[in-house]
Amino acid sequence: MSTQPSPGANALLHRALQHVEDWEQSWGAFDKHPSLGVDPDRLDNVFDEYLERLEGNYPFHHPHYAGQMLKPPHPVACAAYAAAQRINPNNHALDGGPPTSQMETEVVADLAAMLGLPDTALGHLTGGGTVANLEALWVARELRPDQAVAVAENAHYTHGRMSDVLDTEVVPVSADARGRMDLDSLERALEQNGIGTVVLTAGTTGLGVVDPIDEAIPLCEAHGTRVHVDAAYGGFFRLLTEDAAPEIEGFPAERFRAIEDADSVAIDPHKHGLQPYGCGCILFRDPAVGRLYQHDSPYTYFTSDDLHLGEISLECSRPGAAAGALWCTLKALPLAPDDGLGPILTACVQAARTWTEAVEATDALRVVAPPETDIVSYVPATTESSLSAVHEASQALFDTAMNDPDDPIFTSVYQLSADALTSLHPSLTADRDEAAVLRSVLMKPGHETYAESLVERLSTLAMESV
Ligand SMILES: *Cc1c(COP(=O)(O)O)cnc(C)c1O
Repeated sequence: MSTQPSPGANALLHRALQHVEDWEQSWGAFDKHPSLGVDPDRLDNVFDEYLERLEGNYPFHHPHYAGQMLKPPHPVACAAYAAAQRINPNNHALDGGPPTSQMETEVVADLAAMLGLPDTALGHLTGGGTVANLEALWVARELRPDQAVAVAENAHYTHGRMSDVLDTEVVPVSADARGRMDLDSLERALEQNGIGTVVLTAGTTGLGVVDPIDEAIPLCEAHGTRVHVDAAYGGFFRLLTEDAAPEIEGFPAERFRAIEDADSVAIDPHKHGLQPYGCGCILFRDPAVGRLYQHDSPYTYFTSDDLHLGEISLECSRPGAAAGALWCTLKALPLAPDDGLGPILTACVQAARTWTEAVEATDALRVVAPPETDIVSYVPATTESSLSAVHEASQALFDTAMNDPDDPIFTSVYQLSADALTSLHPSLTADRDEAAVLRSVLMKPGHETYAESLVERLSTLAMESV
């Protein structure tokens, strides 16, 4: 693999935009309508204000930002997106953007292959994980109109909300202390009958854990129940189950591998796929579900090679730029365990191990639970063993670290139930229903380099504040 440094982000962006401009010019000069002009002083002022206001963001690009699931896209994605956006193709209908529609078909096939789905799987990009999951729940309802969906309490809130939109009954399934679906609870739900589809999560939004997909799917099959896997956050980690990926302690490879047996999968390239927002994906094992999307139209889209993506999608207009950016990114940084995306994901998962070891090595902090993917949970060590003490100390360290004037560190706070916390740490006494713990999403590979020093700094701040 080449280790040549990539061209700078701005050079790539410039090249992309210049190329589109040259292409535009090749169509011949024409008069620009004066109504589109902007007063130069006003433009200058508005840009001054706009760019300054953008500085109100947290530094998502910096390794000291280890808070939520936020990071800038890869420069390749930015440049590719900007170039296509300037043309603004719409991947709804084929003539809205022939090249980017073709690219969408290609990247969707790449994602399906990464997840182990058959090459006949049907899918398309979406505005994000919410819409991808909505489509999966909608297909679930269309296929099993009178049946409920079973959703674990650790699943993303979107499943409950979208089931409301669809008027589908939700049967709750409990989670274990680590936040993974409890199989006994699932079995009890399945035995009640009336469950058409079970939603499993591969990488929860809270602590990045993975439901026991490998054990849940056979259970569901035995009951004739469909399975949807919400891999919006964790789907890309399936790359690390391939032979060429390194062994990583505590990484649930078997559970990720079992995604291949799901009926549908949602995955978000705008989370671990290095893309700007507006890029989710839904995939269905059985391409025949495409018929459910069919609306009033005189064509037979599903027998033709000229598939209009708008005919298999609930959304109409969608940015061709999102498909173009993902296509370019996956060509530059392929979906491979040992090239492109693989080493990036490996570094994130390793960062979580390094972070956790560093927490274990200090007296000032304690691990809440070991990481499965790249999200870590920890609390300041407290002299008092009540949940209130943990709650207040976590909140205080979160604030102190973020507001440090010289060297701020951005983490996030996550509310864990008293049941989960006391079962993970039996010495704690439950004087509240839930307590704040610190959570860091280490989704930038640079976190691998910085994990130790960040924990050292947090531990110093934790000691100072007691
Ligand atoms: C982020 C996320 C979603 C929601 O996806 P959006 O892209 O934010 O709409 C759903 N499920 C899981 C597990 C997620 O992590």
